Amino acid sequence: MTDPSDTRDTGPRPYSPLWTFLTGVIVTGFAALFVAEVRLGVGELVALARTSLFWVLVVLVVLGELRPIVVSSSRLAGGTATSTLFTFAVLLYHGLSVAILIHALALVVSGLLHRRSWHRTAFNVSQVTLASTAAAVVLGAFGHHPHPSSPWVPEGAEIIAVTLAALAYFVVRGVLVCAAVALHERRSVLRVLRATIGHQSLVYAALLGLAPLVVVVMSRSPALVPLFVAPLATMYFTASLSVRRDHQAMHDGLTSLPNRKLLILRTEEALAEARTGERVGLLLLDLDRFKEVNDTLGHPVGDRLLQIVAHRLTHSVRPGDVVARLGGDEFAVLLPKVRDAAAAREVAARLRAALTEPVRLEGMVFDLDASVGIALYPDHAPDFELLLQRSDVAMYFAKEGRTGVEVYVAERDRNSPERLNLLGDLRRAIGGSELQLHYQPKVCLSTGAVEGVEALLRWWHPGRGPVSPVDFIPLAEQSYLMRQITQHVIDAALEQAARWWHSGLKVPVSINVSARDLLDSALPDLLEAGLDRLRLPPRAIQLEVTERVLMTDQAYAADSVHALVELGIPLALDDFGTGYSSLVRLQRLPVCEVKIDGSFVQRLGKSVDDERIVRSIVDLVRSLGLRSVAEGVETEEVAGLLREMGCDAAQGWRFAEPMPAAEVTEWLRARPLAAVSAGRCESAEFTAL
Ligand code: C2E
Ligand code: MG
Ligand code: MG
Repeated sequence: MTDPSDTRDTGPRPYSPLWTFLTGVIVTGFAALFVAEVRLGVGELVALARTSLFWVLVVLVVLGELRPIVVSSSRLAGGTATSTLFTFAVLLYHGLSVAILIHALALVVSGLLHRRSWHRTAFNVSQVTLASTAAAVVLGAFGHHPHPSSPWVPEGAEIIAVTLAALAYFVVRGVLVCAAVALHERRSVLRVLRATIGHQSLVYAALLGLAPLVVVVMSRSPALVPLFVAPLATMYFTASLSVRRDHQAMHDGLTSLPNRKLLILRTEEALAEARTGERVGLLLLDLDRFKEVNDTLGHPVGDRLLQIVAHRLTHSVRPGDVVARLGGDEFAVLLPKVRDAAAAREVAARLRAALTEPVRLEGMVFDLDASVGIALYPDHAPDFELLLQRSDVAMYFAKEGRTGVEVYVAERDRNSPERLNLLGDLRRAIGGSELQLHYQPKVCLSTGAVEGVEALLRWWHPGRGPVSPVDFIPLAEQSYLMRQITQHVIDAALEQAARWWHSGLKVPVSINVSARDLLDSALPDLLEAGLDRLRLPPRAIQLEVTERVLMTDQAYAADSVHALVELGIPLALDDFGTGYSSLVRLQRLPVCEVKIDGSFVQRLGKSVDDERIVRSIVDLVRSLGLRSVAEGVETEEVAGLLREMGCDAAQGWRFAEPMPAAEVTEWLRARPLAAVSAGRCESAEFTAL
């Protein structure tokens, strides 16, 4: 079994429970070691050192210490040194003193080679000494007192004594190591034992069970003892192969941090372990502006940066806390035991402080920052999924308010459990095949030529079937997922636009962005990088933002909006008429197109009031030098009315429904395309700026 300070070699805090325990074990262990060696005597030792068997064993035990059999990717289970086979054989054959002398020697050598701290090596020597002593006591109880001068070779009938001695050895080592691990990681000993014992007992049974055979060979022909290396090597390679597979399934390939799967496991363990009055904390951490780095400097730089972040985060938490990577630039930190929200806030502040240290990479300096959302069990959520969702809600508030860290507050969260479930499913769907874009053509009302297509998101939920964007977009907009969705939509829409433009189909693709996306300073860079990478002109795309954006005053001042205009990417105002925005407000945003909401358009011909509204919007938009587009045109009658009003373009089932990319490509090839003029938005830019 491994020792408790696997991850870091800093010693325990003086007088902490772990320190007291380790000190107790070390003092007792060294006392036992001292007594045993005194009993052996110098004369015996010199005589022993003259035999070749002694040195063969020393070499085998040292090698065994250097190559532990790791039986589980869990850090707790750790490795079982193969040296146990030989030291236990020596214990049976030559007695306790020689066995622990050789083992202590091997532990010191491996400690030096692995540069372990002294307390770690001393603890290892002590636990091995105490376990061997327990085994020797059992043998003594059966009347066996092996000694170099009177070696013991067990007979078949003595199997019970050997088995009980092996059991004593295993139990003492197991209890000592698990207790230290439990104290180190602040978990219950029983839980650590339960998590470790299964794997370990198998390996120990194999190693200790082979020992009597090694004894027989030692007594007959010491030169044959190294042959046992072959089965050990096989065990070693088979075990490490399965552990590597196990590790891969539970860890992130880039940073080697635990992945979502392992995080779920660890969180569930922590929740089960938490007693009344105890809290478990889940922190969700998202890097600010990471996508910019990735897109402008390329993935290799982004990857290195993520590795550095992972390293910094793992070194800013206490042993037993779990830092996991959920994907992209999103990390989570599990605090299996946390006093209260203030303590969790402290951890979050420490994590952020560790990140803000500038990173030097490829001759550049990066300033990293992150927003952290905190949710606590049992205060905010009863299980992992809800903890994650609530920390996500909190993180969204941290981002929005630029506060850096926020703790979940139920009163600010407008999500019902059902919506939260959907949000969880959506989070899993991003990046997979469940989310796809469909495209709906926009047609010029006077010529019938196609002016562009609008990308509309479609979600095929495995259980619920198709879920309308009307149901999931507003939900996502309230959480931090929206940013990921927009990134996904932009990537997919740009790639489709590139396929069309590079095959001669020069059709502009409209992308819907939420108000918050529009205000995100990363958006222009993201688009510019994407257009560059795919060799597309800015007019190959258009952004649609709903009229509601006009209701927040930030929109007019936002640098991102001006950066987009400067890039030459046209903006359209979507769902016009539903936001009750005033003429003044409309004039202040640099849009070049206004899309009249379908709810008015569909009632054309049925309601005189709606006809008046649409007519006045069309007139108003024209008088501002902008273009009007009618949404949701379902019949030729409505199309005719709009044409007569002077509306420029229309979209709706009368012309075409939203279609998958392949289908819309066919559709486009069969129709005339309107020429895309570079300056189609100029007038709007000038009115607005
Ligand atoms: P929108 O941008 O106003 O999109 C127009 C909606 O009208 C689409 O609904 C479209 O399928 C529907 N529509 C088109 N022609 C007709 C018609 O003739 N009659 C009727 N009754 N409806 C028609 P959809 O696809 O359900 O999208 C709803 C809204 O969800 C969109 O409204 C947009 O605000 C949002 N959305 C869709 N995809 C995205 C996206 O990728 N990102 C963001 N941020 N929002 C999106
Ligand atoms: Mg739209
Ligand atoms: Mg609309």
